[in-house]
This record gives sequence, C-alpha cells and structure tokens, in this order.
Amino acid sequence: MAVEQTECAKRFARLCTDGYAQGWHEANGGNLTYRMTDADIEACRADFAPRGEWVKMGVQADNLRGAYFMTTGSGKFMRNVADYPAESTGIVEINDAGDAWRIVWGLEGGARPTSEFPTHFMNHSIRLDATNGENRVIYHAHCPNIITLSTLIEPDARTWTRILWQSMTECVIIFPQGVGLVPWMVPGGAAIARETAKLMERYDAVVWTQHGMFVSGNSFDAAFGMMHTIEKSAGLYLAARAANGGKAPEFTISDEQLLQVCRAFDVKANPAFLDGAE
Ligand SMILES: [Zn+2]
Repeated sequence: MAVEQTECAKRFARLCTDGYAQGWHEANGGNLTYRMTDADIEACRADFAPRGEWVKMGVQADNLRGAYFMTTGSGKFMRNVADYPAESTGIVEINDAGDAWRIVWGLEGGARPTSEFPTHFMNHSIRLDATNGENRVIYHAHCPNIITLSTLIEPDARTWTRILWQSMTECVIIFPQGVGLVPWMVPGGAAIARETAKLMERYDAVVWTQHGMFVSGNSFDAAFGMMHTIEKSAGLYLAARAANGGKAPEFTISDEQLLQVCRAFDVKANPAFLDGAE
C-alpha cells in the first residue's frame, strides 16, 4: 500500500485540513507529528527508502530509540498536506541512540521535518511515559483566541485554566489537568523544547505565550478536539469580556458547579486549580 493510502496518513492529512479550515495555520504556521504503531510501520515499510545523513536534534530520549514519526515539513503549509503529502510531510526514523533522525519517506525536494521537531520529540517522550504509550499525536497550532488571550492574561497556569474551565461547561471534562504556560521564548530550538516538555509531564495542553498552543492526544481526534475546545473556550471568554465593556464576565461557572460536573462524569480535575477540591 502506498504511504498516502494508509489509514494513519489519511487521518494525519485530515487534521491538517481541518486545522487550516479553522484559521489556525496561516502561511507555514503550525505542525503535527505522529508516533507510528508497529502496524502503521508495516503498512508503509515497502515505500521506505532511507536517505541522507542522521541529523542530530540537540535533545535525546531513550524511550524513542528506533521510533518512526510521521511529521509535517519545515516551511510547509498545512493547507497543502492533503493534496501534496509527499512534499509537505514525511516519515523519519530515530537512531539507536535516540538523538537523531533520518528521512525514510516523503519530504521530497530537499525538505526537512518541522523546525519544531525537537519540541515534538521531547513531548512525545514525556507523554509516552505519562500515558503508558497511549499518546501518539503532538499538534501545534496558532489559534487566534489563545494568542489574543495571552496578550491580556499573565502566563500563569492556574489563572488560565480557571478562565477556560469557567467559560464553557464541558472544558473540565476535556482537559481536567488544565493547561500549562510557557512564557514568551524564541521558537524552534532545544531550549523551548525542554521548557515545554517539563510542562507536558503534567498537562496535555501547553500554551506558548503570544504564539499558540501544543496539545497531545492518543489519537488525531483527541488532539484536534483538545485544541478546538481550548481555543473555543478562549474565544467565548474574549467575546464575553468585550461585551462586558472589557471587564471579566460576571456569571461564569462556579467551582462548586465544576465539581458537580466532575462527579457526574467521573473526572478528577486538577485540585490545585479548583477551590474546594480534595
Ligand atoms: Zn508556531
């Protein structure tokens, strides 16, 4: 089977198309990686043709030695992924030392994995351990409401999480751990990768201040749904605040109501962000 026809490649492309349709991927903004299953690798292996040197990432992970990732390409546009998968995306394998990649499929015309690959890689490593290998998708988008909110609200995880939970009832079910915050940093390197990975030990969603958000998920649907939910809640808060003359909205969901939701849906919300939780 051609790589483009595999289930994982189709789902990968669909997320890119959906994210673009949401307005999250101007120009080459945003990126996506997927840690392939053994079955995915077998389905694609006939098309693999390793090429080029191993490229060091500046970060290392023991638990990703020999892993294969589907990744968007550096400088590539999310809106092109579905129509031009072999030039917009590719598959890389990780070396035995867990510190370098090489291309085995796609990224045609001299392309390379996303410039945020070190951040994705470290997030995969952390989330793999945190979820017993369940997490496979890391997604980065330039969500406008999240970016706008970060120009109004200090980069504090508790403050942000409470605003997001209190603005839409089911948020606490979708991201019960809340969101982590990385204060503004230069993107694209090992330093921001390490800062993000530290937060990914506790959160499945991390905001990059004035930049966008990283989310992780077991599936493409879970990752996209997380991004969509958090972005929507931020937008609701901003609209309510604007409609209220710039002041914080007054009739948001109370902590007691959030706890009622948690009990009804058997969710354990992060107690550090909820008054009255044990
Ligand atoms: Zn970005």
